[in-house]
Amino acid sequence: MHRSKTHIVSLIGAGPGDPGLITVRGLQRIREADVVVFDQLGAPALLDNARPGAELIDVGKRAGDHTLPQEKINELLVQKAKEGKRVVRLKGGDPHIFGRGGEEMETLASEGIGFEVIPGVSSAIAGPAYAGIPITHRSCTASLAIATGHEADDTAESRVPWESLAHIGSVVILMGVGRLEAIVERLRKAGRRSTTPVALIEQATTPKQRTTIGTLADIVEKARDAKVKPPALIVIGEVVRYHERLSWFERRPLHGRTIVVTRSRAQASDLVQALSDLGANVLTAPAIKIEKLDQNPGFDDFLKHISEFKYLVFTSVNGVDGFVDTLIERKKDLRDLAAKTIICIGPATADAFRRRGITPDFVPDTFVAEALIPYFQERKPEGVAILRAEKAREVLPDALRELKYKVEVIPLYKTKLDGSAGESVIAALRAGTVDAVTFTSSSTVDNFIEMLAGTGIEPASIPGAAIGPVTAATCAEKNVRLVAESSVHTIPGLVDALLARFGK
Ligand code: SAH
Repeated sequence: MHRSKTHIVSLIGAGPGDPGLITVRGLQRIREADVVVFDQLGAPALLDNARPGAELIDVGKRAGDHTLPQEKINELLVQKAKEGKRVVRLKGGDPHIFGRGGEEMETLASEGIGFEVIPGVSSAIAGPAYAGIPITHRSCTASLAIATGHEADDTAESRVPWESLAHIGSVVILMGVGRLEAIVERLRKAGRRSTTPVALIEQATTPKQRTTIGTLADIVEKARDAKVKPPALIVIGEVVRYHERLSWFERRPLHGRTIVVTRSRAQASDLVQALSDLGANVLTAPAIKIEKLDQNPGFDDFLKHISEFKYLVFTSVNGVDGFVDTLIERKKDLRDLAAKTIICIGPATADAFRRRGITPDFVPDTFVAEALIPYFQERKPEGVAILRAEKAREVLPDALRELKYKVEVIPLYKTKLDGSAGESVIAALRAGTVDAVTFTSSSTVDNFIEMLAGTGIEPASIPGAAIGPVTAATCAEKNVRLVAESSVHTIPGLVDALLARFGK
């Protein structure tokens, strides 16, 4: 890759929390990076854009309550740059708004290392915007100040000119909620009217954003009542009055709701997008990993006796993929299927064969194994091979055996849960903060319950939202508490059902 000497280290603002608020160039640099050095990101999901194998270093990780000291961070950047790596230094908001980006750049400059700065959307700007507060407005404010609240109660001389701030139209204070009382005191002493409106914006631009409104006279009490916690912004000035009329982000219909999306279909990302756009805090349950069975004596046995099977039944796309791959590994190919009757359950399974140039002989109208029973009832019992996942329901094999068919079940792959991604979901379920868990098929219900095995979380405490009546029936059967049910079996239908149940 071409390495420009002008930007070995990129100092990038990650934005305030909403991962959509990073710049185009910032995102591009994350994708190119060999090393990403980050701390206190509002949007950890941005790190998912780093390429596999890129080194991700969290310098904000508290070891014994201490973050990596600034000098060590500076040294780290120099060291990685000197190794010839493309380094991204990612900071929340904008790197130069109380981000100590300047100090890091000074070190790089004195070492002769090339760097660039990619500004970010500061929480100081994005927070008010997402709270419906136009931070300047022709009708009331012609000046804006951004200050740190860190030094408000220091006995030593504060570097913040509180006297001057009292006369600035809009004042945004970062790192201030812990010292709110001292800040209010300083401003009132300096002559700011006690009726001046104040907004506290917690976790701005995230699904957990919350705005508390008051005046210099009562905001301390209101903050205490609402238990306002950092990270939060303090916004002081007449512009705060617009919040009541212009608040938009917190008014989205699912704002404040936490919804878990179980992933096992391609449409999961559409669902995540739709629910996020409506304001929900969306957690994704771990994807299910498909693993081909390496040692598969059952398959070798099947190949030896393939002539004994007239019917081959496939129940999933993974089954078709696994079958064809394994066939080719064994130096065979689709010509071995010439005289077979190919039966596929589900349109996607059938398409997997069509893409390979084979038109399935039969695809039942409904997508469940039971739908095949009438088909086999009308025929002369012969050999049937069912090619599918290692663990699956026994309804079809049992029914066919009863009809005197010679049935062989050949496992081709196994499904495994990708465990790590589940921790935040499990923690939220334990804390009782999950409003709904979406289920887009019966198997997502089974998989989710399987994922929770050993956590002590009972199905009855899972608030299920089912895509249709079959999935709802599975929820009922498995003792999952239904909170929403779509009458049409589609993603928009499921979203509508959630809106009907939880929408503001
Ligand atoms: N460089 C950052 C600020 C770093 S100082 C920026 O430009 O946004 C950290 C302070 O920023 C926090 O104490 C808090 O006051 C504020 N802050 C950062 N992200 C925030 C968010 N999502 N919501 C509210 N305040 C935030």
